[in-house]
Amino acid sequence: MDNDTFRRHGHQLVDWLADYFEHVGDYPVTPPVTPGEILSHLPDTPPRDGEDMDTILRDYREIILPGMSHWQHPGWFAYFPANNSPPSVLAEILTAGLGAQCMSWITSPAATELEERMMEWLRDMIGLPAHMSGVIQDTASTATLCALLSARERATDFTTNDRGMHAGLTVYASTQTHSSIEKGVRIAGFGKHHLRLVAVDDAYAMNPEALRKAIVEDMERGKKPACVVATLGTTSSMAMDPLEPISAICREYGIWLHVDAAFAGTAAIHPGHRWFMKGVEACDSFVFNPHKWMLTNFDCSAYFVRDPDTLLQTLSMDPEYLKTSADKQVKNYRDWGIQLGRRFRALKLWFVIRSYGVRGIADMVDRHIGMARDFAAWLEADERFELLAPRQLSLVCFRYKQDQLPEEELDRLNRRLLDTINASGKVFMSHTQLGGRFCLRLSVGQATTSEEHLQQAWQIISEAAGAL
Ligand SMILES: *Cc1c(COP(=O)(O)O)cnc(C)c1O
Repeated sequence: MDNDTFRRHGHQLVDWLADYFEHVGDYPVTPPVTPGEILSHLPDTPPRDGEDMDTILRDYREIILPGMSHWQHPGWFAYFPANNSPPSVLAEILTAGLGAQCMSWITSPAATELEERMMEWLRDMIGLPAHMSGVIQDTASTATLCALLSARERATDFTTNDRGMHAGLTVYASTQTHSSIEKGVRIAGFGKHHLRLVAVDDAYAMNPEALRKAIVEDMERGKKPACVVATLGTTSSMAMDPLEPISAICREYGIWLHVDAAFAGTAAIHPGHRWFMKGVEACDSFVFNPHKWMLTNFDCSAYFVRDPDTLLQTLSMDPEYLKTSADKQVKNYRDWGIQLGRRFRALKLWFVIRSYGVRGIADMVDRHIGMARDFAAWLEADERFELLAPRQLSLVCFRYKQDQLPEEELDRLNRRLLDTINASGKVFMSHTQLGGRFCLRLSVGQATTSEEHLQQAWQIISEAAGAL
């Protein structure tokens, strides 16, 4: 493609995106397509000769766009949000255009040094202690894997990397922990049987006494506790594991404490919503995802460690072809994670944080939490519904109820309720299971969701419940 054509289409696409941001609410949140439908419109073989961009863009509009789910839709209440924002998109255009591969300081000094500064900004924004150092990872799953590997090495005096896995190393997390923890436990070689799932209290937060009991039992059986993963903001119900008692137990037995705050971490930017971070000073590692709630488009996960040397000793490699004369004076982030090659992700953080300011992000968080609080109050005032967990931050877990109906029947009705709500095309919600019961989740967090969108969602939910 020649540069003039690139320029012309570049302008066109920015215009298209600006229109998209303005009108994304007019699309159905999820597309009414059937499995395989998009695939059937795509040719079996690649074109032999190049095609022009007008044709490619036409097919984008006619084939791809109708099959997209619109995560930036103001009616997005499913899972957790994956917000982008105009400044973040602008930075991503630059990142793609620069095409830098930021594995070492020398391969883009500005990328490394901006990342270092952005991690300090984020650390201070969410109230992590100043002794922690950060690095950007692709996802929380990867960051947690790094934590598990570091914990494994520390627990075995850095011998596992040399000799292979020791038997009996164990990891602890609550029954509500995210699936990425078990995945990390499998990949890091602990084995699924050495992940102990600790009981939770009525609010689905880890019970510290049950944790202590599991640790003591395991030690008596000759096992070696290596890592506790505490969650701030579980995926099912936003439960907050109590860090103070958990960290005291970890200190007592010399166990690595990793904190998974993938979604909730962003709430800590607002001092009024930071209560759940109490005790975080004692953690060994911490992860949260700016790519969820913090207006920074996927992917961008912030991983913080107390002791970077442990991370480096666990993961750094030093082949001749990567050595540089600056190595002693600089950070080479390739040694701070699993992959070698790295995207320039710090640029979008810089654009987002400067564009909105800390206050702009905090205000958005506060607004979303206020809306979730309102929604929970509407539910509580309506006897057809019940909350299945306390409303925390921006997540409301609830179901339709009717006295005298057996649980299976209620599950079936609530499944139907969710399908009806989502078929509206105006809102999209997802579900979970709490205490064995089918549970609808309303997660407020899309940047453009307003009070009006919330009221519309409530109306749709209420009408669908009336028609059950
Ligand atoms: C979203 C989430 C994850 C996984 O995040 P990825 O960045 O997609 O790997 C892990 N833990 C919690 C608590 C989450 O909310």
